[in-house]
Amino acid sequence: MAAALDAMGARRRAGKARRPISGAMRKSARGRDLWVACETDLKGEVTRGSLELLSHGDQLMARLGGALFAVGFPGALARHAAVLAHYGADRLVVLDHPALESYTPEAAAEAMAHLVRERTPWGVLLNASERGRVWGPRLAARLGLGLTGDAIGLELDGEGRMVALKPAFGGNIVAPILSKTFPQMATVRAGVLELAEPHRGRAVAVVETVRPQLGPVLSRMTAMHSLLDTSIVPLEGAQTVVGVGMGVGGPDGVAAAKSFARPLGAGMCATRRVTDQGWMPRQLQVGLTGKAIDPRLYFAIGVRGAPNHTVGIKRAEVVVAINNDSEAPIFERATLGVVGDWAAILPALAAALETKSAT
Ligand SMILES: Cc1cc2nc3c(=O)[nH]c(=O)nc-3n(C[C@H](O)[C@H](O)[C@H](O)COP(=O)(O)OP(=O)(O)OC[C@H]3O[C@@H](n4cnc5c(N)ncnc54)[C@H](O)[C@@H]3O)c2cc1C
Repeated sequence: MAAALDAMGARRRAGKARRPISGAMRKSARGRDLWVACETDLKGEVTRGSLELLSHGDQLMARLGGALFAVGFPGALARHAAVLAHYGADRLVVLDHPALESYTPEAAAEAMAHLVRERTPWGVLLNASERGRVWGPRLAARLGLGLTGDAIGLELDGEGRMVALKPAFGGNIVAPILSKTFPQMATVRAGVLELAEPHRGRAVAVVETVRPQLGPVLSRMTAMHSLLDTSIVPLEGAQTVVGVGMGVGGPDGVAAAKSFARPLGAGMCATRRVTDQGWMPRQLQVGLTGKAIDPRLYFAIGVRGAPNHTVGIKRAEVVVAINNDSEAPIFERATLGVVGDWAAILPALAAALETKSAT
């Protein structure tokens, strides 16, 4: 197995070849600019979802002609101006107000609404993250705009309108959604848009700090706790991912999968049924109603392979499935499959992978 994976290049550390970000800087034009609401994570780094939105926005703006704005809140974002520019941002706007120093959905929506009313971009994109899913709809409601939530793709139609793609009827079809209102708004799921190759020669043309006038903010976030196990590498951007399904049998099985993942430097994810059980946090659910991932190598352990799950691993290059049912649909998606009890197979596989990387 280890030799087969190496022959396929599944364990190579080098990144994938990606579309490059365009070098050109674009000029802002009312009604033609695209705004990407950028987020930082608990460590203060720009989230991969935000960089994916910018990467895709760069492509859209190359056709539409407006400028790509990274818009965010005070704190870490301003010091990431270079990274944002490398992924396509032409301008950075930081909304600065004491009420925005710690995130609350109300203040975020209120502040952004002011700016949208004042400047009328062509479109506003938000991450369909835990935060974006909460403040995005509030922003749309304040502005009286439509919002396509949880889009899995974004295109332009022949008239230069935003077409947001959404799975419908349990994922059996993808519905194109056009907004009747302007600016057009969507939240987009992490992992579905391709991350581009950053252009390190770009710099943002304008960094602007705007101080919106905000009324009293009724709620306040006093603390944020992550349920994620920090001994496991983050799922977003992981080159190797270990996914667990109900077949692992419970928290002990999850712990065994973690022990397998750690030495591989792999991220972890789970099926919805596993997160429903609370064996893994909801942020790690992959599939139709979870995240999409694009690792080089994906281990599916005790995962049946329901289409609602495999839609989230469409861009995984090599899939290794371990399942005790030879008829399990995951084997149709798998590059390599092992039929048997994961508890017997995983230690042997771990040892083989370890030996192989030591040689
Ligand atoms: C609207 C909608 C949205 C959904 N969205 C998602 C989503 O985003 N993500 C998602 O994952 N699911 C989603 N689902 C649920 C999805 O349809 C499946 O029910 C789910 O993915 C199945 O999870 P599972 O493979 O962990 O569990 P199961 O279906 O219970 O499969 C467990 C597998 O483990 C195998 N197994 C059992 N014991 C062992 C053992 N000892 N060793 C090896 N293998 C073993 C079994 O053979 C079986 O194939 C959604 C469903 C709906 C209706």
